[in-house]
Amino acid sequence: MTILESKLSPENAVEHHTIGAGDYYFAPLKKGQTLRILDLEGNQAADTLFFNAADVSERYSATDTIREQGNVYLTAGSVLRSNLNNPMLEITADTCGRHDTLGGACATESNTVRYDLEKRCMHACRDSWMLAVAEHPEYGVSKRDITHNINFFMNVPVTAEGGLTFADGISGAGKYVEMTALMDVLVLMSNCPQLNNPCNGYNPTPVEMIVWDAQA
Ligand SMILES: [Zn+2]
Repeated sequence: MTILESKLSPENAVEHHTIGAGDYYFAPLKKGQTLRILDLEGNQAADTLFFNAADVSERYSATDTIREQGNVYLTAGSVLRSNLNNPMLEITADTCGRHDTLGGACATESNTVRYDLEKRCMHACRDSWMLAVAEHPEYGVSKRDITHNINFFMNVPVTAEGGLTFADGISGAGKYVEMTALMDVLVLMSNCPQLNNPCNGYNPTPVEMIVWDAQA
């Protein structure tokens, strides 16, 4: 766990967007720009994918990222790598300390397998991503590009035996993670509406997306 506070001031940011639970954020982030994801009320999960804005077949890869840094968790100093092993973004500040690379996103299908058949109609992150790509054809991202994601703020500890558990969050109100783009990217974030596991404290809440231009 690395706790590193940002030197950036929200007053100097160029964009602020509050994203409710169950909504998505889908927008470009230029090389040199910095994005902060702010956990406004705590214990939220921000399920996020990144694409090369110039060629969306290049995208965030958990396997390349984990192998190159030799650690399954993301924190300050982590470089998010693509499926071509290119650096896409670097985490430059983090007051939560640890972010999940392994747990994947919720879907209506996985809700029925994990919880109950009647959970099928509950809103899931995959639905938000599908809506995002349908409402933004200008980015050229389609259903086939939806692959493995990062769960910012989510706590999925790996046990000594190699087991995975969805545990109560380690984030809290006002905690954030910040990353600088190393290439022009598209950011696709679903603010998780999950109500069946403790990843968001059974109480999905908004997150804020804050963008700064490249620092001189
Ligand atoms: Zn979710």
